[in-house]
Amino acid sequence: MSGDNKEIRFRGAGVSPGLARAVIHVVRDDLDDVVRYHIEPSQIGNEIARFEAALVQTRVQILEMQQKIAEAIGAKDAAIFDAHLLVVEDRTLIDEVLRRLETERCNVEWVFQEVANNYAETLSKIDDPYLRERAVDMQDVTRRIVRNLQGKAPKAVFSAAEPHILVAHNLTPSDAASMDRQLVLGIATDLGSRTSHTAIIARSLNIPAVVGLHDATEKLESGQHVLLDGYTGLLIVDPTAETLSYYGEIEIRKGQVTKELKQLRETTSTTSDGRHIVLSANIELPGDVDAVAENGAEGIGLYRTEFLFVNRNTLPSEEEQYETYRKVAEQVKPNPLIIRTFDLGGDKLAVGAVDVGDELNPFLGWRAIRFCLENIDIFKTQLRAILRASAVGNVKIMFPMISGLEELRHAKAVLDECWNEVGEKKSGKMEVGAMIEIPSAAISADALAREVDFFSIGTNDLIQYTIAVDRVNERIAHLYEPTHPAVLRLLKMIADAAHANDIWVGVCGEMARDVATIPILVGLGMDELSVGATSVPRVKMAVRSLAMPECQQLVNEVLQLQTSSEILARCLELATKRYGDLLG
Ligand code: PEP
Ligand code: MG
Repeated sequence: MSGDNKEIRFRGAGVSPGLARAVIHVVRDDLDDVVRYHIEPSQIGNEIARFEAALVQTRVQILEMQQKIAEAIGAKDAAIFDAHLLVVEDRTLIDEVLRRLETERCNVEWVFQEVANNYAETLSKIDDPYLRERAVDMQDVTRRIVRNLQGKAPKAVFSAAEPHILVAHNLTPSDAASMDRQLVLGIATDLGSRTSHTAIIARSLNIPAVVGLHDATEKLESGQHVLLDGYTGLLIVDPTAETLSYYGEIEIRKGQVTKELKQLRETTSTTSDGRHIVLSANIELPGDVDAVAENGAEGIGLYRTEFLFVNRNTLPSEEEQYETYRKVAEQVKPNPLIIRTFDLGGDKLAVGAVDVGDELNPFLGWRAIRFCLENIDIFKTQLRAILRASAVGNVKIMFPMISGLEELRHAKAVLDECWNEVGEKKSGKMEVGAMIEIPSAAISADALAREVDFFSIGTNDLIQYTIAVDRVNERIAHLYEPTHPAVLRLLKMIADAAHANDIWVGVCGEMARDVATIPILVGLGMDELSVGATSVPRVKMAVRSLAMPECQQLVNEVLQLQTSSEILARCLELATKRYGDLLG
């Protein structure tokens, strides 16, 4: 916090871009008081019945909320509530409550709150961001179950009737679901991180958000006037005239950029000197397809099919997969649909249907193509479904986590077997590609390039394996540097090997959506960039603002530099010159 005249600034992390100006509505964590009272043994049955009824009621409420969120912002975000449903069904938790009811003989809301709080506390202490988020889920559901036991209506934290910026210690998915988007112009929380649910929901709803403000709720009062900067993570109380005028200008500039981005939908992603770079979208679920054309992408560059396993305990059959792939292919044709075969394991799903077990180093373990080649039935079922769907659209296939030539040949041999099983395709052959996301594949890219039709570079993994930085570990996030000289050298090796063998090469990792590094990818001669659909307009604007010679010159220069920060600084220099408004 810092003061300037009357203005007070709170600094956190901007997790959903945008500006908002309004009065604040501060929500404090006022947990309902739960009194403890003794019960007779004869009343235990009654307490159990009350508990069961509250669990059923809570389940119904969560399903209703999930439905509401699915309708408002899509099934993917609604899936957040699956974690809540798991709490209501958690046998260990329920059994512990029943056991303590017998031994302690007191009212069930008190016993339940004790047990649930212990659970949440244990989870919150574990040094894992995912599990810490589960503690928040636990608190959210606990609050709901206790209120149901007390016969109170679900709590709506958002009682302000005028447009406002919501300031809370923490926001849970339930809170977000009951939020009125017309009234909540911005969100600011004491807790939270980029991967927290508050951030995910705020981004989906396009509401500016700042998290990690520490003790803002203790220092602020409802009714104060603030300016929220979701770009840089600032909450400014009583902004001065100077601050307001500074932000007024930013708002005008950002408004212009948004307008320009919308107009880009029908244009191609071609550099200012005429080189076309295919701009595709990444999707996880079939429901994401509408956003592909809406944002002006030229097809799907990465369909992460392992998301078919979300929320289910059975394997998707060949028929079900065929129907899913066929529909997606039909929706995007004549543009391409690149289906990546299952990339299960690692930070991905280890769900009921496919148990990859616990591993010490899951990212280096039984994952992706390694898993598929040993679970040949699962693999072949998927391959047959893809081959059949390829008859109706412009379908291509690619294998994740290829580490070398033998593995690639093995995967292709299985694909050939499947061709024979489904019968030759009538209209030509389907393109087969390899994801290049392991350093060994990058280094042997020349050999691999002779045996595939394209490469798609998975920079998310390539960076983590090259620098040995776990991509989901917060503590070493500062070492995860896309502009590391070693990463750039590998990218160059891959691009050169592809072109020397007359195949095309794309980038489908997050590096392709980072407007700071796009000039390098363009300069290296990447033929395709594939990014999340909502990032497509920004990437298109960046590509259209650049010229090939300046990007090639940049690549030549940065390949001589020895540190990530020097390389990044050079990239930013060019990016700022060409499309400064897209940065920051
Ligand atoms: C990548 O690794 O860059 C990639 C696109 O695949 P995923 O993020 O699904 O591992
Ligand atoms: Mg990957």
